[in-house]
Amino acid sequence: MRGTVYLRGRKCGRRSCACAAGGPRHPGLQLTVNLGGKSRSRYVRHGEREKVEGMVKAYQGLWQLVNALTEVNLELLNARPIKPIKRRKG
Ligand SMILES: [Zn+2]
Repeated sequence: MRGTVYLRGRKCGRRSCACAAGGPRHPGLQLTVNLGGKSRSRYVRHGEREKVEGMVKAYQGLWQLVNALTEVNLELLNARPIKPIKRRKG
């Protein structure tokens, strides 16, 4: 899948926690992706990191494949056509 995983501070939701009173937030991973012009994001839960990062890596691998195919196709388009061998007359 397309997306970016990055570290971001979040509030835990507990009123008694320091983060609720403007204190340091809890570091957590977030997945963000722009889909159809709309930004969508979601926290990556504990134990999900490997799975989510693997999904993003698969997208990057696919993109590399598209780039490699584009390069090959560009070379094919730019290649000179093979001239047929002309036979000598007589
Ligand atoms: Zn907190």
